[in-house]
Amino acid sequence: MTTIADKLQSVRARIAQACAAAGRAPDSVALLAVSKTFGADAVHAAALAGQCCFGENYIQEAVEKIAQVAALGLPQPLEWHCIGPVQSNKTRLVAEHFDWVHTLDRLKTAQRLSEQRPAHLPPLQVCIQVNVDGGASKSGVAPVDALQLARAVAQMPRLCLRGVMSIPDEVQGGAAQLAVHLRVRQVFDALRAQGGAGFEAFDTLSLGMTADLEAAVAAGSTMVRVGSGIFGARHYPSSPTA
Ligand SMILES: *Cc1c(COP(=O)(O)O)cnc(C)c1O
Repeated sequence: MTTIADKLQSVRARIAQACAAAGRAPDSVALLAVSKTFGADAVHAAALAGQCCFGENYIQEAVEKIAQVAALGLPQPLEWHCIGPVQSNKTRLVAEHFDWVHTLDRLKTAQRLSEQRPAHLPPLQVCIQVNVDGGASKSGVAPVDALQLARAVAQMPRLCLRGVMSIPDEVQGGAAQLAVHLRVRQVFDALRAQGGAGFEAFDTLSLGMTADLEAAVAAGSTMVRVGSGIFGARHYPSSPTA
């Protein structure tokens, strides 16, 4: 049986190889381990294998898991990233329990997160989610609206604007994947060039998953979000087993 530690190691090797192929430094791409639907024991195993950053989609599930993992005890502090949609009635939980939010696509949500971020915690690190290939029903702002939202977020006292995130629709083949990822990269570069005040920490392009991380790294991703490659196949509906 392949353990979580083994799979983590092969994902790290894939990232290193993709960096080498793109002429990038191996430490220029961070790995976010996406642990949605997997239990605290799986997170604990990955953390013992050196993983620090974890991504979660479902807020209630995540809040319970964060407490469970903390109770198991670890040598290193973990960083929790919210990569799922944030409904208005969940902003307080997100502001109180997460370190990062990748999925900001509405001003109202950003305002609530900033207001609700507890004073004893550092500012919430946030990315603007951009939709480069879907219809209006898909999450994320259209590229033409990204700068305006990012500038507003950059002024919010308890948020720190870190960059851009995207979840492109699945396409087959490295060339097609690269093409869509490069469109996200373009938005990232344009925002960074035009942003201005409040964009000092704008350094993160959250792009790429298990199936397309090579193309994402080639396009300039600085953070890949990998779930099944580390934890195995997910089973829905989500009811994490003990
Ligand atoms: C589930 C998920 C991932 C991980 O997907 P895998 O294909 O399992 O690597 C990455 N990003 C987001 C936003 C997700 O919801």
